[in-house]
Amino acid sequence: MVSFYPGPSRIYDGVPRWTAEAARKGILSMNHRSPEFMDLVEKTNRLLRARLHIPKTYAIFFVSSATECWEIIAQSLVHNHSLHLHNGSFGEKWYHYTKRLKPQATDEPFDPDTIPDLDRLNPSADAVICLTHNETSNGTCIPTGFLRDLRKRFPSQVIAVDATSSMAGVNLDFKAGDVWFASVQKCFGLPAGLALLICSPRALERARSLGERLHYNSIVFLETMMALRQTTHTPNILGIYLLCRSLEKTGPIASTEKKIAQRARAWYEFLGMRHGLRPLVPNSAVQSKTVIAVAADPGQISTIKRVARQAGFLLGNGYAPWATTSFRIANFPALTNKEINGLLRVMKAF
Ligand SMILES: *Cc1c(COP(=O)(O)O)cnc(C)c1O
Repeated sequence: MVSFYPGPSRIYDGVPRWTAEAARKGILSMNHRSPEFMDLVEKTNRLLRARLHIPKTYAIFFVSSATECWEIIAQSLVHNHSLHLHNGSFGEKWYHYTKRLKPQATDEPFDPDTIPDLDRLNPSADAVICLTHNETSNGTCIPTGFLRDLRKRFPSQVIAVDATSSMAGVNLDFKAGDVWFASVQKCFGLPAGLALLICSPRALERARSLGERLHYNSIVFLETMMALRQTTHTPNILGIYLLCRSLEKTGPIASTEKKIAQRARAWYEFLGMRHGLRPLVPNSAVQSKTVIAVAADPGQISTIKRVARQAGFLLGNGYAPWATTSFRIANFPALTNKEINGLLRVMKAF
């Protein structure tokens, strides 16, 4: 079964081979304070920067999930106020998680078919502005232009971006934000259990000035340990190894993005020509390239999912409010043209 689920999703074909290799090389029982581990961290760090164009001045931390990143940001970077822009389930969940830890958190919901309105935003002076770059629940993506405008409008504010279903699929403008994070079971094409938390000098400075040291994953601790090429806890060493190996194989993000954009264009063109199927969000300016959300009537959706499954393709269910009126198709880099064409053939019948 080929998983077109937008996470966990299809993994790279190399994963079983790299896992066997990890076992053979002793990676699976490697000590996380050993020089070998520190070399692995160093190399993975270097490859991440080279492939994804992460600025030299930004720190990269290995944590366990995107959900953990929501908590780390609330703990270590939010003084009192965080402002959450959201148009779907993941952004909203982030807001609710934060609100439990920092009750002064506020939100600014916006319609999935639109770009948020900068003029409505009123963050307090030290508020962290939180937004979801690619909203996996409804297949929308915040345009890079908006992120740059946001940066310009609030030049000294800490801006945190959930890029879980877009990092490693599209070229992110890291300079437009201070905190970027993603778990690896989406565009990275790897098994779940590892996430990257990327922090700008401004974010690190904020963490130091707040000096929050109540948690094993407080950013000040992450930073101290990463200076030694280590982690605060025993991390997912196999996950880091698989990430390292996969980055050796994948090219620069610009070429991945080109492939993803071409495939997305083909998906949206295809949906534009159907009678019963259409993109969940009509506004092409906010349609995601990495997660294609398709709207149709509920009866037809269950038929398509069943027929696709019989042909060996697993589609993603609709999420939360769109559970019965949509389904989702991952457009992640690990999927092959052959698999995509196979699914397209199945869908042509509808
Ligand atoms: C999948 C996803 C998450 C949750 O990721 P975990 O690794 O399960 O914590 C958070 N945000 C977005 C946008 C996602 O797509």
